Amino acid sequence: MTYTPPKNLKRYAEILKQKLPAQFRISQNIRLEFSKSDTTQTLWELHDEGIRELHRQIVDRTPPDEITRREPSLLDLKTELAERIIQSCTLCERLCRVNRREKERGYCGVEGVSRYASEFLHTGEEPELVPSHTIFLAGCNLRCVYCQNWEISTSPQIGEPMLPERMIETITLRHLQGSKNLNLVTPTPHTHNILKTLQKLSINIPIIWNSNMYYTEETARLLEGIVDIYLGDFRYGNDQCAIELSDAPEYREIVLRNFRRAYHSGEILMRHLVLPGHIECCTKKIIDLVKENIPHIRFNLMFQYRPEYRAHRYPQIDRYLSAGEKEAAIQYATKLEDLLI
Ligand code: SF4
Repeated sequence: MTYTPPKNLKRYAEILKQKLPAQFRISQNIRLEFSKSDTTQTLWELHDEGIRELHRQIVDRTPPDEITRREPSLLDLKTELAERIIQSCTLCERLCRVNRREKERGYCGVEGVSRYASEFLHTGEEPELVPSHTIFLAGCNLRCVYCQNWEISTSPQIGEPMLPERMIETITLRHLQGSKNLNLVTPTPHTHNILKTLQKLSINIPIIWNSNMYYTEETARLLEGIVDIYLGDFRYGNDQCAIELSDAPEYREIVLRNFRRAYHSGEILMRHLVLPGHIECCTKKIIDLVKENIPHIRFNLMFQYRPEYRAHRYPQIDRYLSAGEKEAAIQYATKLEDLLI
C-alpha cells in the first residue's frame, strides 16, 4: 500500500486537533517480533514489513484513541537498529564509523550520550509551529562558517544529558503548558537517543525534525514512521558553495535525495536562508530544484542572515543582504507562488 502524504501540513493540523495520531505513536502500535540476536539484515527486512503496516494504518486513519504501546514494536525495532548504527556510526554522510558507545567521537564530536543546550517554548518559529517545544541539541555534523548557533553546534559537551525518562517528563510538561509539537534542532547525531525517548512517550504530539538533511539513507529509513514534519534547511544549490561554507561534500545530491524521500514519508517545511552573494548560485538553483522535484511544499525564504562566527574570513558573506538581493530572491520565488510563507 502506497502512502502519499498531503502537502501544506494538513496531516499535521489533524494531529493537533487530536483527530490523527503522530507517526511515532503508530510505530509504537505496530507489534513486530524480533530479538537482539537477529542479524541486522533480518531486522531491516522486518522493518520494511512494519513500514507497510504503518502506511496501512495511516491510509485507514487509525484514530489516536485506538493506539496502544505494544512490545516489541516497530519503534523498538528502529531503536535497536539505531543503537547498532552508532557502534560504527553512519547516522550522517560523514560516515565516521566510530564506536560512539565506546565514547569514540567522530566529526560531530557527539558521544553515545546526547546533550542539549536549552529547551523552551519557542514563539519565533513559523506560524503553524508556535508555540513549539524546541530542544537545541549540542554538536553538529556540518561546519557552517557563518553558523548562527555556533556556541551550541561546536560544543557537543555542553548542557544537560538527554536522559529518556527525564526528557519524557519535560516533553509532557511542555505539552501541558501549550506546546504544539516537539521541535528537535540538529537531531541527526542524536537519532538513537531521540528514538529511545519516543519509545515510552505517551502523548500525541507531532515530531518536527529540524535538520540540515545531511543524513544517510539508513537514517532516512529510521525517520519514516517517526517524523511528521521535516523542517529542513536547503542552503546551497551546488557542491562548491557547500564545501567552501559548510565543509559538506556531495551536499546537493544528498540533501535533495533526503528531501525527495521525506516528500513520501511526511510533510515538509523547507527553509532557505538567503546568503549574500549567493542568489544566482544557490537561491535560484534551489527554487528550481523545489519546483521540479518536490512541488507544493511549504517554503520559507529567510532573510535574517547576519555575519557570525567565522564569516569575517569570507568577504562575500561578511555583510548583510542588500535590498536588491532580497528583492531578487522574492521575485524569483514567485515561481512557487502560493507556497511561500
Ligand atoms: S553522526 Fe557524528 S559520528 Fe556519526 S557519522 Fe555523523 S558526524 Fe560522524
